[in-house]
Amino acid sequence: MSQAYIHCPNTGKDVYVGLNLEWSQLDSLELPPQEIVCPRCGGSHRFSKDDVTLRADGAGD
Ligand SMILES: [Zn+2]
Repeated sequence: MSQAYIHCPNTGKDVYVGLNLEWSQLDSLELPPQEIVCPRCGGSHRFSKDDVTLRADGAGD
């Protein structure tokens, strides 16, 4: 399982969005636009499937 991240536009950091997916699931995923409160900058960010990148468990910051 991989964790889904988006890129915070204010800090340039990756932000975990609370989803765990496989790459194979991402292709077929129906994900409506989402909004999260960003733990990096405290702002709210809207994102859709196209903004999500996946990382394997334990990787990165
Ligand atoms: Zn942010």
